[in-house]
Amino acid sequence: MTTTVLPTDPPPQLHQAVAEAVRLLQQGEVVALPTETVYGLAADALNPAAVAKIFAAKERPTFDPLIVHLPDKKLLDTVAEVPPEIQKAVIQLIERFWPGPLTLILPKKACVPDLVTAGLPTVAVRVSANPVFKRVIQALGRPLAAPSANRFGSISPTSAGAVVAELDGRIPLIVDGGACMHGLESTILKVEAATPKNLLTILRPGPITVEDLKVYGRVQRVTRSVVDEATEAPGQLASHYAPRTPLRLLAKPSDFTPEPGKRYALMSFRGEEKDGYLGLTDWAQVLVLSPGSGKLPEAAVRFFYVLRELDKLGVDEIIAEPMLEHGMGTAMMDKLRRAAVKP
Ligand code: AMP
Ligand code: MG
Repeated sequence: MTTTVLPTDPPPQLHQAVAEAVRLLQQGEVVALPTETVYGLAADALNPAAVAKIFAAKERPTFDPLIVHLPDKKLLDTVAEVPPEIQKAVIQLIERFWPGPLTLILPKKACVPDLVTAGLPTVAVRVSANPVFKRVIQALGRPLAAPSANRFGSISPTSAGAVVAELDGRIPLIVDGGACMHGLESTILKVEAATPKNLLTILRPGPITVEDLKVYGRVQRVTRSVVDEATEAPGQLASHYAPRTPLRLLAKPSDFTPEPGKRYALMSFRGEEKDGYLGLTDWAQVLVLSPGSGKLPEAAVRFFYVLRELDKLGVDEIIAEPMLEHGMGTAMMDKLRRAAVKP
């Protein structure tokens, strides 16, 4: 199969790309689309044959459920049943965060194929704020299943070029909407009624942080072991987001002693000498997530890009500096820990 990449700038190109994406999706094909988090591989969520093509292109195991995107938050009840006891909380959350990078886990309606939810009684839903994605899904007028547009277990793509590297020849179309605004996958949240405050469980940390959510209830984070992950958050495998090159996450500079003859590359947080990592060895390459300032949202935008670039070098090991574990640092540290796990 030949993979076409269509630009979305200037506007006549955008119209053409959207029309082509809609045409293919209506035919039950898969299309890679930009979202504000990472690029997604989209298919008609209510068409099991189309959804099956997502699993095939990604080589994704069918026990790993997909996120369903809606054209509009008003359509939530077409795919999900909102239990009365959490209705108020859900309305507050979607009014505040949709469209945006928050995914909610809710009981599913019968129209959602079992393949989408991996047989679970719940469905993961969100509404994307990306202008290109919005145009496509609103023109289609149907929910889209759209997991990240990478091969299973690999690094999520945050540019059309990264999607080409992952899926060239496996899908008919990639719509190039430029770099993704957040650069990290959506926050996945489960909402449960409780007194005095509802319980909000973060199943996957992402751009919507504990700090953002805590006014809406008591927030807890699930850190799963390999054993129980199949139940609560399938697909959040202990080993995931992995570059091919072995990766080591340091806690402090003194934890690293270079071995003679080995080549190392450094993923640095802000690239400052005084942090103590730059001088540890003669690095084959140093890439900095947030040069100088060490801003977590900026680091998040570059995170998967930097990981992908360092993976191309063919060094013996990628060494990652730790980040502060608040805000988007929580999600990046989570991903670095998963990337560091040996499969
Ligand atoms: P992706 O679309 O590749 O970013 O990943 C989707 C992830 O959402 C899956 O790997 C699951 O961890 C999570 N997910 C999807 N549906 C459900 C569900 N019904 N319950 C819990 N987690 C889910
Ligand atoms: Mg993914």
